[in-house]
Amino acid sequence: MKRVYNFSAGPSMLPLPVLEKAQEELINYKNSGMSVMELSHRSGLFTNIIMEAEQLLRDLLSIPNEYKVLFVQGGASQQFATVPMNLLHNSGKADYVNTGSWSKKAIKEAKKFGDIRVVASSEDKNFTYIPALSKDMFDPEADYVHITTNNTIEGTYFSTIPDTGDVPLVADMSSNILSEELDVSKFGLIYAGAQKNIGPAGLTVVIVRENLIGHASDTCPTMLDYKTHSNSGSLYNTPPTYGIYMAKLVFEWLKKLGGLKEMARRNQQKAKIIYDTIEESSLFTSPVQKNSRSLMNIPFISSSAEIDASFIEEAQAAGLETLKGHRSVGGMRASIYNAMPLEGVEALASFMKEFEKKHK
Ligand SMILES: *Cc1c(COP(=O)(O)O)cnc(C)c1O
Repeated sequence: MKRVYNFSAGPSMLPLPVLEKAQEELINYKNSGMSVMELSHRSGLFTNIIMEAEQLLRDLLSIPNEYKVLFVQGGASQQFATVPMNLLHNSGKADYVNTGSWSKKAIKEAKKFGDIRVVASSEDKNFTYIPALSKDMFDPEADYVHITTNNTIEGTYFSTIPDTGDVPLVADMSSNILSEELDVSKFGLIYAGAQKNIGPAGLTVVIVRENLIGHASDTCPTMLDYKTHSNSGSLYNTPPTYGIYMAKLVFEWLKKLGGLKEMARRNQQKAKIIYDTIEESSLFTSPVQKNSRSLMNIPFISSSAEIDASFIEEAQAAGLETLKGHRSVGGMRASIYNAMPLEGVEALASFMKEFEKKHK
């Protein structure tokens, strides 16, 4: 069996033990005579899956009781609209931090619903750093503050979570949720598309403080009102059942390996190998400021676009897939989410060193 090391930014690698477990259970789930995809979402077996998935996520992230976990669809992109539709209910104002392409999309969408202010931005330097933030920068009347904790395309990450005082903090964590321990109580709402660190595409996870639910306007579509999903345990309509099952297997895998503390240790170790390789190299450089570097997405460039292109081609031939950088940044990008094994990162680092010798 040939498996490659897939450095895709998303959909990305899933842990091999998770895929094997899914394969083992595929055609006859727990003696039901059917697959999870064929189970009624109202069945006892599926009820157990969704309840276990939620409980495992609560355990992994130590989610406090006053937070709801919602399993919805539409991707993180739909949350760009859902968040303002549900949360802009007092002043109608929200403060956004612009740290990259995904933040920009979130801002553009939110502007359809209220008075949106960009309080800080790193666009002046091509989003290569996380701007410094302090409490006095935020409007105390704002209904929420929005940040993108990990910028998938640009490779930056908030190593400290800003203090927004009494204003609820909303975070798009699509590309770094579950990569390290997290104090959920610092946030009003967290959302993430599943296809980076949780499971297959099609599932979106929302973690929301109860007091932020129930304020959507009467014209808010039922499916976009958090209350709908909160009141029904994410079973108002047919949820993405197989995605929830796969997420449950990923959560079990995380728990078994030692939880987020151990996952964070591994992620630090993996990222260090790549960043050290870049630092020691005279061919490769990182565009990102040192104090803002992501542990999940590592963009880097060589000395020319031609060398970048041969790097990507030769890497692919060596079983190192999808290293092409995002079209807006160019060069290369190694996405090394939770499921990327240490061996994959080591293989990339030695490939980079070999490549450099040949191209000097
Ligand atoms: C991938 C990504 C998105 C878009 O997610 P979809 O589920 O495809 O809508 C949004 N924000 C961030 C930070 C991402 O990494």
